[in-house]
Amino acid sequence: MREYRAWCFDLDGTVYRGEEPIPETVRFIRKLREKGCGIFFVTNNSALTPERQSEKLARMGITAAPEEVMTSSVATADHLLKNHGTLSVCMIGEEGLRTALESAGHQIVREAPDAVVVGIDREINYRKLADASLAVSGGATFVATNSDKAYPTERGLVPGNGAFAGLIELATGVSPFYIGKPAVPMLVTLAERHGLSKEEMVIVGDNYETDIMAGIRFGIDTVHVDTGVTRVADLVNYGEQPTYSLSTLDDWEDN
Ligand SMILES: [Mg+2]
Repeated sequence: MREYRAWCFDLDGTVYRGEEPIPETVRFIRKLREKGCGIFFVTNNSALTPERQSEKLARMGITAAPEEVMTSSVATADHLLKNHGTLSVCMIGEEGLRTALESAGHQIVREAPDAVVVGIDREINYRKLADASLAVSGGATFVATNSDKAYPTERGLVPGNGAFAGLIELATGVSPFYIGKPAVPMLVTLAERHGLSKEEMVIVGDNYETDIMAGIRFGIDTVHVDTGVTRVADLVNYGEQPTYSLSTLDDWEDN
């Protein structure tokens, strides 16, 4: 097993399940810290700011600076800035997306925006969907933080951001540009901000269709852990295999 300088961890299903830490991962991250490795967290969750996410990690015994947390919201704001400059944005989303957009210099408006950005919004309503659809039909740039159609909760799978973005796509006939995994912009932004080369990076995740696909598309090594969405037995259904597949990170062997 290779040595990597920059470890990029998915969160839900990899570091924790809901509010429950996964002890093997917590132990592994502690060992990496002792060795001085770079540790980053890469999450499609657009609702939490990096600060809130690092507070959540701290409650689980993991020290993480906000700069080490890359969310789909931060990458969305960065993507818009790099490709279009600062924009007026009609937003569907929560605190994580609002803060990321405003920190990047974008202005949040309701009408006549340059761009429509859609992230998870647990207080979504018809007016927000109508405003967004009208703006997209009128030619605004259409970006979605991620394409997850559903996400797991204690009660089971509930609609995710991909379902809302899909509703606007259905209403307008315009497809959004997706930022989160399996797309690569989060890994691009992370590598740029921290000066990382692809050779030194590895991504660890439980979901083949998001985490492992993002790593493969970006061109870095991948570690699948059998602690969440994709079970080891399901990997045969996919073409390109992860670089490593482990039951948990306790099975990672240093050379
Ligand atoms: Mg996951």
